[in-house]
Amino acid sequence: MQIQKVIDEITHDVQSKLANFDGEVASYIPALASVRPDQFAMAVHTVEGETFYGGDCEKLFTIQSVSKVLTLTLALQRYGNELWQRVGKEPSGTAFNSLTQLEFEQGKPRNPFINAGAIVTCDALYSRLSAPTHHMLETVRWLSGNQRININQLVSRSEYQHRHRNAAMAHLMASFNNFENEVDEVLKVYFGFCAIEMNCVELAKTFSYLANKGVDVASQQRILSTKQNSQLNSLLFTSGLYDAAGDFAYRVGMPGKSGVGGAIVAIVPGQFTVAVWSPKLNSYGNSSAGLYALEQFANKLSLHLF
Ligand code: GLN
Repeated sequence: MQIQKVIDEITHDVQSKLANFDGEVASYIPALASVRPDQFAMAVHTVEGETFYGGDCEKLFTIQSVSKVLTLTLALQRYGNELWQRVGKEPSGTAFNSLTQLEFEQGKPRNPFINAGAIVTCDALYSRLSAPTHHMLETVRWLSGNQRININQLVSRSEYQHRHRNAAMAHLMASFNNFENEVDEVLKVYFGFCAIEMNCVELAKTFSYLANKGVDVASQQRILSTKQNSQLNSLLFTSGLYDAAGDFAYRVGMPGKSGVGGAIVAIVPGQFTVAVWSPKLNSYGNSSAGLYALEQFANKLSLHLF
């Protein structure tokens, strides 16, 4: 009841000033540039299986970089600690699509939540799965509880057509022998993951395992070991919002992951997953209204972890 009341208050507050938030809708591909900026949704999924929500929760959006958490989860299931030979665990301090650091650090991306890190993790998955896209969709449909979850093909194809920077990262990694498969084939998989479409309630539900010691709340199936789940949350805390992870830690105080579709997922361990969505992005590629909403939420319910 308390959670619903707070969501209602925040939704009302944010919706009354949506036009005033700084930033622009992602414009690097036409399919994202046409999304209406004045939208907001917020949802909570508790470890007891309760759902609370407000705003435009029926609207679908592409999860973009939030998918990097799922990619890492599937890769950890298959590789365990071996994965860290190919991708690091440190905050990047540079933009999510930066190329320069990758050159300095000889083709090993700083962490799995920037583009290069997620692309190399996709490459690792591609080596172990015969149908990675199918496997990811099956996983997301099961976790979200919606069998109709799909990839927005318009967005995915548009990303592929405008792939130069991500392709450059993959080729650079290949030049340092940190790539195993055909670059374009792996990129198709990566863009498909980014273009998975769902609503805010489904997003909160999909990541319920992160708040629940690695166990999916609805099915009670283990997704990650308790230890892997703690480690993943730690990495989200230090790197989930790219080079703005420090600001997020300061303002919101929980592990989180953002995407250029305007979604942010945050985790209160042992209690719930909270998802927000609003498409206007700040200069770091994080949702402006989403950050504000999460900060309010953390303040009103005293959720800051420290
Ligand atoms: N699809 C986007 C890209 O590869 C994802 C980036 C993001 O959400 N930050 O550029």
